[in-house]
Amino acid sequence: MTRPASAQIVQQHRGQLETLPFEDTDDFEAATRGFLGALEPGVVRNAEGRIVWDNDSYAFLRGEAAETVNPSLWRQSQLLTKQGLYEVVPGIYQVRGFDLSIMTLVEGDRGVVVIDPLISMETAAAALGLYRTHRGDRPVTGVIYTHSHADHFGGVKGVTTQDDVDAGRVPVLAPEGFVEHVVSENVYAGTAMARRAGYMYGAALDRSPQGGVGAGLGQTTSTGTFTLIHPTVEITTTGQEEVVDGVRMVFQMAPGSEAPAEMHFYFPDFRVLCLAENATHTLHNILTIRGALVRDPHAWSGYLTEALALFGDKTDVAFASHHWPTWGSDKVVEYLSLQRDLYAYLHDQTLRMLNQGMVGSEIAEAMVLPPALERAWHTRGYYGSVSHNVKAVYQRYMGWYDGNPANLWQHPPVERAVRYLTFMGGADEVVAKARASYDEGDFRWAAEVLSHVVFAEPEHAEARVLLADTFEQLGYGSENGTWRCAYLSGAHELRHGSFGTPIVAVSADMLAALKPTQIFDSMAIRINGPRSWDERIEVDVDLGDAGRYRLRLVNGVLTYSAAAQAAAADLTLRMPAAAACAAAE
Ligand SMILES: [Zn+2]
Repeated sequence: MTRPASAQIVQQHRGQLETLPFEDTDDFEAATRGFLGALEPGVVRNAEGRIVWDNDSYAFLRGEAAETVNPSLWRQSQLLTKQGLYEVVPGIYQVRGFDLSIMTLVEGDRGVVVIDPLISMETAAAALGLYRTHRGDRPVTGVIYTHSHADHFGGVKGVTTQDDVDAGRVPVLAPEGFVEHVVSENVYAGTAMARRAGYMYGAALDRSPQGGVGAGLGQTTSTGTFTLIHPTVEITTTGQEEVVDGVRMVFQMAPGSEAPAEMHFYFPDFRVLCLAENATHTLHNILTIRGALVRDPHAWSGYLTEALALFGDKTDVAFASHHWPTWGSDKVVEYLSLQRDLYAYLHDQTLRMLNQGMVGSEIAEAMVLPPALERAWHTRGYYGSVSHNVKAVYQRYMGWYDGNPANLWQHPPVERAVRYLTFMGGADEVVAKARASYDEGDFRWAAEVLSHVVFAEPEHAEARVLLADTFEQLGYGSENGTWRCAYLSGAHELRHGSFGTPIVAVSADMLAALKPTQIFDSMAIRINGPRSWDERIEVDVDLGDAGRYRLRLVNGVLTYSAAAQAAAADLTLRMPAAAACAAAE
C-alpha cells in the first residue's frame, strides 16, 4: 500500500519552496491568456464509449501541493492541466490540455490550417470541435507536422481525411525525411520502447497525489486511435516559403535536434514563430528514458541560435507544440536565449569534465547550471533532467564503457546480485541494513542494494515491500515528471505484478507506411538466430512497382538485396506492396 512522504522528503520539498521563485507567476498568466472556452466535461471518448482522455482526473491538482509531490512538479502540472481553446493572436488559436501535446490552428482565407493534430484521432477531433464551437465551422485547409514524433501527427484523421488529402484539397506539410523517421523510430526497438514508455508516462498509475500527477511535457498520452496520413509537401530548405490557404510561412530546418526530422517556421503576417519541440517550458530530453538514439544538444542549441538570428527581431509571440506561448519580443528573445544556452551548457560542460577524466555519473552530480538558468522555470527538468541528460552526452561521445577495466566485463544483473548477497551476509541481512538506509533517507542507496535482493531472490517478500516503499519515496521527491512515473511504476509492479505494455505505438497506418526494406529489417530483427543458423533459404519477393528483392537467410541472418541475381531462388513470392505490409503485422 502507498505510504505517506517521509520526513526527509517533506524537508526536501520545504527547501525547494524556499529557494525556487514561486512568486514569479508569469507562466500562470501566459497559460490562461486568451482563454475562449473549455470542453465540459474535459473527457474524450472513442466510438465505443471508452475514455481515451480524461483531463478532469487531475482536478486534485487545483489545491495546495501535497507532501507526496515535489512542489515544482506540482506547479508544472497545475499549468499543464489548464484545458481549453486559447487565442495566441487574432487568427492563431491553440487547444491545450487535450493530449500530451497541443494543437495550433491558423485561420486562412477559406478555412483553418492545423499544426500538430495530437496523438489520437478522437482527441484531435474533439480539439477541432472546440475550436469550431467558438470560431465557426471553418473547413481544415491544410495540416503541418512539425516533427516525426507520434504526438504530433497520430490524430490527423480526426481533422481531415485521406480522400481530401489525395484529392489535393488539404496539403500536408512536413520536414524532409518525416515518414522514414516516423517508422524507423518505432520499428527496430519499438517493443522495448513501448514497455518502457508505460513506465515513463505512468500508464498504470492511478491519478492522485500518491500516483500520476503528469509527465512534465504534458500530463500523459491519450489512448485513442493512432493514424497517419503521408505528407504531400516536403520542406527541405531553410528559407523555403510556402503559402497554404493564404497563410504565409517561412521555414527553418532543424533535423537531428529533438527529433531526427524537425522544423521551425515563422508567420510574417502574424509576427509569430513556431519552434516545434526545440524550445518548450522544460529542459527536454537529450536521451528519453523510454530509450532512443542519443540526440545532439550541440546541433539543437545551434538551431536556436539560428532561429534568433533569422526571426528574433521580428517575432512578437513564440510557441512550441507543448505548453503555452511566450508573448513580447524581449521575452521571446530572452526565452530562446536561455533555452539555447541550456543545451549548449550541458553539452560543453559535460565534454569539459569528461576530458578531465570524470565519468557520466560523476559529471551528473557535479553539474550545476548557471544562476540565470537555475532561476528560469522553463529550464528546469520536468521532462529531461540535468542528471540523465549529462549521462546522455557522455554516452553520445564515449559509449557505455567508463574506462575502468573493472567495469569492462561485469557479471550481468542476476549473477552480480547473487554474489553481492553472499558477500554482504545474505538477503535478510541486506534488507535489515537497507531498512536503516531507508530510515535515514538514503533512498538512492537503499534502492541499489534492495534491487540486488530482488534480482537474486525475486520472491523475498520483505525486500519487495521495502524496495517498493523506497521507489515511492524517490518518486515523491522527483521534480521530473517521468522520473516520478518510473519510480511509482516500479513500486506498482513490485506490489501488484507486471502491468505489461499498455502503450502501443503501432497501428495499421504505421504498418502501411513501411517501405519494403523496412519490412525486411523488421523481419530480420525477429529471426531467432540459434534456431535458424543451420537453415539456408533464398526467396525472391516481387512487389511489382515497389521492386523485386532477394531475401537470403544464412547463419541465422536475414539479409536482402535489390540487385539482379544470377542463381534462381528457392521460392518466388509475388504480391502488391500493401500485402507485404499486412504480412508484417
Ligand atoms: Zn511532442
